[in-house]
Amino acid sequence: MSSISENLNRVRDKIAKAGGDGRVKLLAVSKTFSVDAIKEAVDAGQLCFGENYAQEACAKVDWFASHYPSLPIEWHFIGALQSNKTRSVAERFDWIESLSRVKIAQRLNDQRPPEKGPVNVLVEVNIDDEESKSGVSVSDLKDFLRSISSLPLLRIRGLMCVPKAQANDEEKKATFAQMRKLYQSCIDEGYPFDTLSMGMSADYELAIREGSNLVRVGSAIFGARDYSKK
Ligand SMILES: *Cc1c(COP(=O)(O)O)cnc(C)c1O
Repeated sequence: MSSISENLNRVRDKIAKAGGDGRVKLLAVSKTFSVDAIKEAVDAGQLCFGENYAQEACAKVDWFASHYPSLPIEWHFIGALQSNKTRSVAERFDWIESLSRVKIAQRLNDQRPPEKGPVNVLVEVNIDDEESKSGVSVSDLKDFLRSISSLPLLRIRGLMCVPKAQANDEEKKATFAQMRKLYQSCIDEGYPFDTLSMGMSADYELAIREGSNLVRVGSAIFGARDYSKK
């Protein structure tokens, strides 16, 4: 089994080979993995981490804040967010990549401690129009953006998507290209976007070639996840 630092180097190499060197941010998705695993990645130079489950995520952020208060870790929340968890996330996270409901946006804005400044936000787009999936539909996106754009403690930085799990490379390529267009059309309308989050362990190189500048990579760095231990 290879170590987390070897895995990180391999992923960084592949990002560079896909043309993402210096342009693409690597988010290490650490859900279900321990603070020790995260620390190993930190020691290998990784400072951006993504988490999905509010309770688990907040415990990890707090652990690092008390054990390594001077480490400049950037925490991204990338999971489904229920209204009863918005406060704990608004208080701790630097980025929320999975925003798709106006009510949640309002709560995050109201609960963000003003002294921390606005929280960075990406709007999750249900790009393949899957019934079971969260995210704003393509047809609702512009209305959604208008309804959250005046909230002072949210800084909307761009879009995020998770394509259909069973899609093949060709389908994913089309999906990523469609996201890229949608992202560009928002910029053309005046939204000051700079972040397009797409690509996971199985498809981050493809996503980079289609214009992603933030990839969310979990298992290729930390290994297979064991949900039974959660
Ligand atoms: C778990 C997760 C990832 C990482 O998935 P891997 O396939 O392990 O790289 C990325 N994005 C989101 C939204 C996730 O939930």
